[in-house]
Amino acid sequence: MISKRMTKSLQEAISIRDIFEEGKKLAAVYGKENIFDFSIGNPSVAPPAIVNETMKEILDTEEPLALHGYPSNVGHPEVRQCIADDLNKKYGMKYDIGNIVMTSGAASALALICNTVLDREDEVITFAPYFWEYKSYVETLYGKLVPALCDQQTLQPDEETFRAAFSEKTKLVFINTPNNPTGAVYTKKSLRMVADVMREMSEKYGHPIYLVSDEPYRKLAYDGAEVPFLPDFYKDTLVVYSYSKTLSIPGERIGYIAITPQAADVEELFAGLTASLRYMGYVNAPSLQQKMLLKCYDAAVDISIYEKNRNCLYRGLTDLGYECIRPDGAFYLFMRALEEDDWAFCQEAKKERILMAPGKAFYGPGFVRISYCVPYEVVENSIPAFERLMDRYKKNRK
Ligand code: PLP
Repeated sequence: MISKRMTKSLQEAISIRDIFEEGKKLAAVYGKENIFDFSIGNPSVAPPAIVNETMKEILDTEEPLALHGYPSNVGHPEVRQCIADDLNKKYGMKYDIGNIVMTSGAASALALICNTVLDREDEVITFAPYFWEYKSYVETLYGKLVPALCDQQTLQPDEETFRAAFSEKTKLVFINTPNNPTGAVYTKKSLRMVADVMREMSEKYGHPIYLVSDEPYRKLAYDGAEVPFLPDFYKDTLVVYSYSKTLSIPGERIGYIAITPQAADVEELFAGLTASLRYMGYVNAPSLQQKMLLKCYDAAVDISIYEKNRNCLYRGLTDLGYECIRPDGAFYLFMRALEEDDWAFCQEAKKERILMAPGKAFYGPGFVRISYCVPYEVVENSIPAFERLMDRYKKNRK
């Protein structure tokens, strides 16, 4: 028997993975080239060559017991030092190894932070639309996720809804820029507002409220868009970084948490995160992947490939009359559905063999998310299918 909590969660889930599985079935029937699968965010650009080369070199040269044995829960010290040095150089910070915790990607980092900071029924605010798994990380630990809806025209954080989301139970705010699902890069103006409101609320409620900056897409920004560094705005920030998308290695599970040196209770946070690695069963991030970072910490995939997809898709869809918000980063485009019910719109799109994720799944009803981390030909060949989809709606309106 499974728990009542899990039963309820399974009933409520809109599974984007199910849409992806359906895509595979359709591809078997109609041929892969005839399916426009924009459902999930699996990288489509090859990892930089240095990633595999480094892993091979490590396997060939390192002493196996040292390489494959348990490292410290928080990770190899030389790797944490390498990351601290890189951040210090790039952002003029003063991180040291006591601020860096290696994790199995961003997902585990977020869960570890929740486990460390939240008591039962504590609240976590996030800007909506948001990455749907946030709810799972928070609620699995008996917390409550409180969405603060972004401005619907700009998809930037909105001060009024943000302020209204706070209570004495607020302990964390999750922010994600460049954003999944919208592709928005939050501006300095938005981030200044976020920091000002958080300082005011921390003072009002008499405890630190930590800002958790979830950054798997930090390096995926287009047209030279600047992705501001959150600790420059707010000292109580925990940066969550992941190499899943930057190096196209989501299956390898590697990332880190950087606790801002000036944050409240740094040592307690570090001790809590260390314990959480054990309590939650992660133990440590994969040792080989950690060591790989000593050479690859600053490598990145060729983002011009995603940018080309973005340009083709955005131009193609807007030319057809679809209402889209131009994405500045990540590999997602958020588009208004042609009917109020975004789920029904996704079903209609499937008739043209277009697979997209409904906005409802991200607390963004009325929209759909198009993941353009696919081969360029898929984007290019999908435009006539989007045209046919538009025609279906035009005919129905007559
Ligand atoms: N946060 C956001 C916004 C994401 O989009 C994802 C993955 O798609 C994650 C976290 C989890 O990433 P990781 O593979 O690093 O666990």
